[in-house]
Amino acid sequence: GGVSGVLQPRGVKGADSAVSSSITKHFELKHLSSGDLLRQNMLQGTEIGVLAKTFIDQGKLIPDDVMTRLALHELKNLTQCNWLLDGFPRTLPQAEALDKVYQIDTVINLNVPFEVIKQRLTARWIHPASGRVYNIEFNPPKTVGIDDLTGEPLIQREDDRPDTVIKRLKAYEAQTEPVLEYYQ
Ligand code: AMP
Repeated sequence: GGVSGVLQPRGVKGADSAVSSSITKHFELKHLSSGDLLRQNMLQGTEIGVLAKTFIDQGKLIPDDVMTRLALHELKNLTQCNWLLDGFPRTLPQAEALDKVYQIDTVINLNVPFEVIKQRLTARWIHPASGRVYNIEFNPPKTVGIDDLTGEPLIQREDDRPDTVIKRLKAYEAQTEPVLEYYQ
C-alpha cells in the first residue's frame, strides 16, 4: 500500500495505452498518463496547457520543471492507492525528481521498433473530448471517422504528423533512452 508504483518511460504512444489499461485493471492500479494530463490541460486552456501545446506541436518534450510539478501534484492525490505512471518520467531529471519522493517497484519498457511506431501513429484517430483512442488497423471505430460512444467526429493528433513523429523519435533517443539505463 501507500506509495508503490510502476512506470512506463516510453517515448511515443502506440498500442501502449491498451497495454496500460490491461495492466491497471489486472493489478488494480490508478493510471496516470502524462500525455493525457497535458491534453486535458490543453482542452481546458490552462496556463500549462497553452505552454504545453507549443512544445507538443513541435514534437518536443515539455520542460522538466513544468512536467515534474504537474505529475507530482497529481500523485499527491493518489496516496491511498498504487499507480501506473504512463509516459513519465521521460528524462533523467524527471526520473531523479520522482526518485526523491517515491520508491518505484517496477519499470516496464515496451520495446517497439521505430518503423512500427510510425505506422501506428499515422493509423491513429482520437476523440478529443474524451481522449478515446482508435487505430484504423487494429482497433477501428464502428463507423469510419466517428466516435463509438458520442457519435462525434474523430481527429488525428497534430503531433502524429510524419515529420513531427520523426522529431519525437529523435527526442526519445536523446532524452528518454538514458532513463532506461538509469533504472537498469
Ligand atoms: P504522449 O501522449 O505520452 O505521447 O505525450 C504527448 C506529448 O506530450 C509528447 O510528445 C511530449 O511532447 C509531451 N509529454 C508527455 N509526457 C511528457 C514528459 N514526461 N515529459 C515531457 N513531455 C511530455
